[in-house]
Amino acid sequence: MILLGAHFSIANGLHQAIHTARDYGCNTLQIFTKNASTWKERDITKKEIDLFNQAREEAGIESIFSHDSYLINLASPEEKKYRMSKRAMLREINRCALLQIPFLVMHPGSHRDSGEVAGMIRIADGINAVLDKAGSCQVRILLETTAGQGSSLGRTFEELAFIIEKVEDKNRIGVCLDTCHIFAAGYDIRTKASYLETIESFDRILGLKNLHLIHLNDSKKGLGSRMDRHEHIGEGAIGEDGFRFFLNDSRLDRLPFILETPKEKDGIEYDQTNLNRVRRLAGEEICVKVSPKTGKDV
Ligand SMILES: [Zn+2]
Repeated sequence: MILLGAHFSIANGLHQAIHTARDYGCNTLQIFTKNASTWKERDITKKEIDLFNQAREEAGIESIFSHDSYLINLASPEEKKYRMSKRAMLREINRCALLQIPFLVMHPGSHRDSGEVAGMIRIADGINAVLDKAGSCQVRILLETTAGQGSSLGRTFEELAFIIEKVEDKNRIGVCLDTCHIFAAGYDIRTKASYLETIESFDRILGLKNLHLIHLNDSKKGLGSRMDRHEHIGEGAIGEDGFRFFLNDSRLDRLPFILETPKEKDGIEYDQTNLNRVRRLAGEEICVKVSPKTGKDV
């Protein structure tokens, strides 16, 4: 069985995200450990940790990922923003450590017209400083591939390799590949030949051993559009075949697949539909047919 999950909300409590994942028949999930659109910090209480651990045990879900706040920009040329980003990143890592979440996904950052190389060096320096402060906890940061919108870095595998090469502790860094982002960045995955070329280029430049997570999202925008707009699986510019290649590649067998597709379509909850589509494309039986939210067949 593939490791499959989605990004779930913590609006009703951190542990509720695990319950939601279980209700959908998922064996992995991704969460934010705080509100992702604010700088406001959040301390995790002992009670929250206990509930989280209990939910994880009940659901039998081992593989959990956290995604950092959208505001963090370790490539920022503004000293104040850079400092705030490093501080917030350290807090993200500390929350992961408390919740025993082994991986923290981060967007590399935007250089804001200060130059790509300078931006990438700031990211690596920032990661080194944050990991140094984080001490002995073993949380691994995963740099996410990006669509390259605006001045955001991580559009090419080479950019991520440049940053990783400068991170001192290689056991604390890795990559998360987002299908929508790489496609929007210009890596075609729609045909067997283009998929193989893309994955082999990833392996050559970054190494598949450094890949720890795949975000499965279709793309509203076309190849090389550099626009980050997620679409339901099979309904966007990538189409079903692209996902089939990822899901049936034996080199990626051990990897978790996490959906970050839109939550609704025409007012109807859509996670179950997307999860079922992925299971079908992976050649698996669709094990959950009833939406836990609506109670209806999906
Ligand atoms: Zn993503």
